[in-house]
Amino acid sequence: MTSTGKHSSEKGTSNSALLSAQQSAELCQACGICCTGAFFSHVTVSSKEAEILKSTAIETHVNKKEKIVFDQPCFALSGTSCSIYDKRPGSCRAFLCKLTRNVLTGETELDSALGTVAELKALTAWLVANAPLDMIKHELNPSTNKPDSIDKTLTAWHNLKSKAGGNTAPEVRARSLGLLQVLMGLYFRFEQKQNTAELSEQDVDYITNAFAFAKLCDRYFEKSRLLRKYAQLIQRLPQTD
Ligand code: SF4
Ligand code: SF4
Repeated sequence: MTSTGKHSSEKGTSNSALLSAQQSAELCQACGICCTGAFFSHVTVSSKEAEILKSTAIETHVNKKEKIVFDQPCFALSGTSCSIYDKRPGSCRAFLCKLTRNVLTGETELDSALGTVAELKALTAWLVANAPLDMIKHELNPSTNKPDSIDKTLTAWHNLKSKAGGNTAPEVRARSLGLLQVLMGLYFRFEQKQNTAELSEQDVDYITNAFAFAKLCDRYFEKSRLLRKYAQLIQRLPQTD
């Protein structure tokens, strides 16, 4: 009896571990957000990995800290999947967001996790569609900060918005954006406007949604550098009844 119980318990554990692994893979296949530039501005690779990536759409470069990196959004992302799965570098293989880890441990049900991903994608789509791009053009274009890549990002935003008329699927939009960089740049402009009491209603709306995005990222996906910054802006907004 004890023995049978132990065996069935082990079998149960192994089946549930397998199920959790399948569910976490299903979640990632439906998501792909961590490769869109919403959480990270770049991925660090080894020189050996950089060699392997030469045969892919990814371009690596050496950054100011003398690390070999490639920028996000990742050009190897196809829809919500990695198009170079077998060649993806170690950092990509090792990354698991909090949500995936919670699905793997059985702490979060797949349906609930998919709902969280859908919520983040909806917020992403809104932030993209309503971004005051002209406001960030100067902020995001300092000569020290890879102007080429930032210009490409902004051009991609403009093209996507005008082509899609606001109807592109959120994951397609997110792919071409680098939302982290853009929201970081916007933060400094909003802060400046706040100091001179120039925030418009649209600005307040945007800050509110950017804060919601940062909170969701930080709570369910990956610690977000945006959270503290947008929380500061929110705290300084005039209180409404
Ligand atoms: S953000 Fe999380 S759930 Fe989405 S693809 Fe990345 S690891 Fe998977
Ligand atoms: S190589 Fe693949 S897993 Fe890594 S960031 Fe690019 S699309 Fe994502």
